[in-house]
This record gives sequence, C-alpha cells and structure tokens, in this order.
Amino acid sequence: MASKLLGVLAQSFVLNEAPDQPLNLTASIGIAVFPDNATEFIQLLQAANAALHRAKQQSGNRFEFFKEDMHGAAREALLIESHLHRALAGNELVLHYQPQVDALSGRIIGAEALIRWHHPEWGLVPPFRFIPIAEKSGLIAEVGEWVLNTAVRQQADWAAAGLDIVPVAINLSALEFRRDTLCSTVQAALAASGLPPAMLELELTETVAMEDTEFTVTQIQALHALGVKLSIDDFGTGYSSLSYLKRYQIDKLKIDQSFIRDIDNDVSDGAIVRTVISLAHGLGFKTIAEGVETASQLAFLRRYRCDEIQGYYFSRPIVAEAFADLLRNGTVLTGTEAGAT
Ligand code: C2E
Ligand code: MG
Ligand code: MG
Repeated sequence: MASKLLGVLAQSFVLNEAPDQPLNLTASIGIAVFPDNATEFIQLLQAANAALHRAKQQSGNRFEFFKEDMHGAAREALLIESHLHRALAGNELVLHYQPQVDALSGRIIGAEALIRWHHPEWGLVPPFRFIPIAEKSGLIAEVGEWVLNTAVRQQADWAAAGLDIVPVAINLSALEFRRDTLCSTVQAALAASGLPPAMLELELTETVAMEDTEFTVTQIQALHALGVKLSIDDFGTGYSSLSYLKRYQIDKLKIDQSFIRDIDNDVSDGAIVRTVISLAHGLGFKTIAEGVETASQLAFLRRYRCDEIQGYYFSRPIVAEAFADLLRNGTVLTGTEAGAT
C-alpha cells in the first residue's frame, strides 16, 4: 500500500493555471502496527510519527516501519537540543583550528575553525552528533553566529598581538546560507572586530551550493563583494552543475576526504581527484585536499598540482593557543605520519 501511494504521488501533477509547469511531489510515510507497536491510539500515533521522522531523515520519498530504537533516537535528539541551549549560554563551546598548508612548501596559508562541545557530564560531543540536530531545530542559527563572532574576534586578537594572521574558514550550514541576513551578519561581525574581510573564509557544502542555484549566484556575489573568501566543502560528494559552478565567484574547491583516503589503491578515486583539480584550475579556482594523512597521499596530490593540503599528516585541529604558537614560531610545517592515528 505504501509503495502504491508513493508511486501515485510520483506522477507529475498538471495544474490548470500553469499547464506548462508540472508539479512534482514526494511523500514520506511512517508505519506503526497495531497491536505489535502499541495498543493505545496516542502511542500508536507517536510510533508512526517516529517512523515518519526516520523516513524523512533518510532523504524522504520512502516509507519506514516503526522500530524500538526510533523512540530512543528521538529522545536523544530532544536531550541534545535542550543541553545545547545551555551550552550556548555557558562556556561549553570552543573552536579548534586546523592548519591548511601550501602543498609544496608546507607553509601555513590558512586554517579551518571546527566547533567542539565540552559537555560537563558527557565529555566531548563531536560535531556530527549535534550539528544535524541543531540544523533541524533551528538552533544552528545561534550556533553559527557564535562560531562567526568567535572566529572573527579570535583573529582580531591575534592580529592585535602582532601575529601574522592567515585566513580562517568557518563552516556555514544550509540554514545560515539561505538567510537573506547572512551578508549583513557577516559584515557586522567584521566591522565589530575590525578584521579585514579577506581574513575570513566561508565554506558552503556542494549540496547547498547546488540547491537553489539562482539564489546561490546572488548570495555568493554579495558575499564576494564584501571581500570575504568562499570555498565549496566536501566537493565531489554531491552533484554539481558546471554551468552554475562557473558563475560562482568562489576561491577554492575542497576535495572531500572520502576520495583522498584510498587514493593510493583505488584507481577511480585517483582519477576523480585528478579531474577535480584540473576542472577547478580550468575555472580559476584553487584546490585543497582534506583528510590527508600519509606521505604517499601528499606525493600524489603534489604530482597533480593540488594547491593546498589539510589533514592529520600536517596537523590535527588544535586549540587556539596552540595555533597561535604555530603562527608565532614559524609557519612552515613538516608532516609526519605518526601524527595520524
Ligand atoms: P568538514 O567541514 O568537512 O571538516 C573536516 C573534518 O575532517 C573535521 O571533522 C576534521 O577534524 C576532520 N579531519 C581533518 N583532517 C583529517 C584527517 O586527516 N583524517 C580524518 N579522518 N579526518 C580529518 P570534525 O571537526 O569532526 O567536523 C565534522 C563536520 O562537522 C565538518 O566537516 C563540518 O561539516 C561540521 N562542522 C564542524 N564545525 C562546524 C561549525 O562550526 N559549523 C557547522 N555548521 N558545521 C561544522
Ligand atoms: Mg569544512
Ligand atoms: Mg569537508
């Protein structure tokens, strides 16, 4: 029955007002079974809801049967959400900085700011556990603003202390990128800190960049006009429209680490990486490889003229003070595989 319903909805609908613009709909379906999953109506409905939630989470346009673990996942999401409110108010969030180096010289040319949550009882909560929940609840707007302001203020402090600062990249979630207030928020943060715009870079993911391409062109233009740098994160994991990519005023493509991991053994990964590098260069973008852990991965990337490297081979994400030390004590890193555990 569920498959049949999805099939019926998958057909295009033609409305009288706009006969040349067929409308496409998808549905997500959650199924709970009486009396196996619950005997009371409310509980049965809750179970169906939890299954629906899982169906939507798994990209939608599908059905899911209720399973016991679904209640657990929903409860955990609620718990994380409520604790994240407190984390924002208190001092539980910090940014770590991962150096990005020039592929040939090892000189530090930038850093990526990555959020960390030190929960007083749970310990370190990794971003993949709370960022998706923050995105779903809308809390990401506040988290994102905290990240922006913290990174910009930190940079300004380093500059004031006489350090030779490099551009720091922050990750933008889909929700933040879609807001029409993004430009003014970024501008305000820069103005408040006095940081030159070129010292801030914004990373958007390929999926976001290709979602509403006309809007993206305009949004990128506006950000570019502010003077901040832009890059596309996790490149190669989504799909890109080349005709839009060439219209984006971005600075670099970040090659996703899933392609780097097996670069030595997997012929297709190697081919993808080489192709992305030459595509990027052809369009006037730089390339940075993420997740570089070994000397032979680095050698491959150098051979095919990848411009920049980020990964455990050169450095893990480190606390602000440690990154400041790097800036202070000479900015050329020599990699080591021992650092990659
Ligand atoms: P991302 O932006 O693609 O960040 C790169 C991730 O790869 C980071 O994980 C980093 O620690 C990890 N990494 C770097 N080098 C290596 C390596 O050599 N080997 C391996 N195995 N991993 C490496 P992290 O910090 O756990 O962040 C995961 C994701 O969470 C990020 O992926 C980003 O999408 C998201 N994220 C992190 N901080 C923020 C933030 O402030 N705001 C938003 N919206 N998302 C964030
Ligand atoms: Mg990133
Ligand atoms: Mg990435």
